[in-house]
Amino acid sequence: MNLENSVILITGASSGIGKETAKKLAAHGAKVVLMARSEDILNELKTSIENDGGQASVVTGDVTKMEDFKKVVSKTVSTFGNLNALINNAGLMPLSFVEKLKTDEWEKMVDVNIKGVLNGVAAVLPQLKANKGGYIINISSMAAHRYFPGGAIYCATKAAVKMLSEGLRQELTPKYGINVTSIEPGAVATNLTDTITDEDIKEKLQAMLEMQTLESEDIANAIYYTLTQPDRVNINDVYIMPSEQQ
Ligand code: NDP
Repeated sequence: MNLENSVILITGASSGIGKETAKKLAAHGAKVVLMARSEDILNELKTSIENDGGQASVVTGDVTKMEDFKKVVSKTVSTFGNLNALINNAGLMPLSFVEKLKTDEWEKMVDVNIKGVLNGVAAVLPQLKANKGGYIINISSMAAHRYFPGGAIYCATKAAVKMLSEGLRQELTPKYGINVTSIEPGAVATNLTDTITDEDIKEKLQAMLEMQTLESEDIANAIYYTLTQPDRVNINDVYIMPSEQQ
C-alpha cells in the first residue's frame, strides 16, 4: 500500500500502540482517523499530528457499538473521500484467575476484544470491497500462542482474533485484494494493565515490570512494515517479543 494519501482508521488511538501507530502512519503521509472514547486525548493527538505536518480526524466511538462504527466509516468517507485500511487495535486486559468469577470483566473482554473487532470488519468491508483492495490489521497478542497466569479469558479472546484474521485472509485476500494481518506482540509498555482488579495478578505482574518490555513504537514499526509491502505480499502474522521475555 502506498501510504501517501491513504485513509487509515485506527481504533484505540487514544493510548499506547494505537496512538504511536497514528503518529507513525501520519508522518508517512497517511490520513489517519482516530477512534476511541476519550475525545479530549484524541483531539490533542490530532493537533500534535497536524503540527507535525500530518492529517488526522477524530471520531469518538465505542467499538462494541456497531452504530458507532458505521458513523465513523461514513464520517471518514465524507471527510477524506475514502477509507483504505482498518487497524483493529482497541482492547482490554483485566486479567484474573477464573475461580474469582469476575464474569463482568470476562464479558467486557469478549465485547471489546472479539465483538469490537468483528464490528470493525463489518463496518469497513463494503468500502474496501468497493475499492477492490485495502487492509485489515488486527492486534492479537502473544496471548494467542500461550496461556499466562490470569489470562484464560484474555488469551481466548486473542486466539479468536488470530484465527479470525486467518479466516478473513482466506476469504477476502484472493477474491478482493484486501490484505489481512494479525499482529501478536509480547509485553509492551502501555496502560493495558490498568484494568486489572485481581490483586493476586498485580503481584505476579511485578516480575514483568522489571523486564525491558517493547515500546509502542516497536509495534507501530511492525504495522508500518506490514502496510508498505507490495500488493502481492500478505504478511499473515507478526509475532514480536521483547528480547528479555521468555
Ligand atoms: P492501552 O490500554 O494503552 O490502549 C487501549 C486503547 O483501547 C485505548 O485507546 C482505549 O481508548 C481503547 N478502547 C478500550 N475500550 C474501547 C472501546 N470500548 N471502544 C473504543 N476504544 C476502546 O493498551 P495497548 O495500547 O497496550 O493495547 C492496544 C492493543 O494491543 C489491545 O488490543 C491489546 O490487547 C493489544 N496488546 C497489547 C500488549 C501490551 O503488552 N500492551 C501486548 C499484546 C497485545 P478509550 O479508553 O479512550 O476508549
